[in-house]
Amino acid sequence: MSTTPSPSPASTAPGTGREPNAADRDWLALACELAALCPPSATAFSVGAVVVAADGTELARGYSRENDPHDHAEEGALAKVPAGDPRLATATIYSSLEPCARRASRPRPCARLIESAGLRRVVTAWTEPDTFVPDADGTGLLEAAGIPVLTLPDYTAAAQAPNRHLLG
Ligand SMILES: [Zn+2]
Repeated sequence: MSTTPSPSPASTAPGTGREPNAADRDWLALACELAALCPPSATAFSVGAVVVAADGTELARGYSRENDPHDHAEEGALAKVPAGDPRLATATIYSSLEPCARRASRPRPCARLIESAGLRRVVTAWTEPDTFVPDADGTGLLEAAGIPVLTLPDYTAAAQAPNRHLLG
């Protein structure tokens, strides 16, 4: 693990471990803002996601149903990064909602897509409720794959805002 000092407040570089830095918070806030762009749905959450390289360069962003009614935010963002981009190995993905562990619409859940892409870290605002998928445990799946998942409860309300119609 690196022992370099924390980045300056202006840095956009993600943190490297389980402690969020200021940039992590800013990127997660952006992911929550992207969730508001999703076409509304009565059967799926609105989610935003951003993939950020270790040096703070944004690699891609996405949101639910961006191009297709079945699109997930993380899936859409990852699809925009060229396969084999070496920056993926040290990238962090920010998602307003915990990446899914299983899904009805497509064979590979976002947690597996993140694992396959080789990302090193996930930061999310909201643990998936049981609304659509019982015992959705994307965090457990990712952690089991050696990818730390940080959940920042300060942003849960922002992540839920575009989903209020789905929450009891
Ligand atoms: Zn998903």
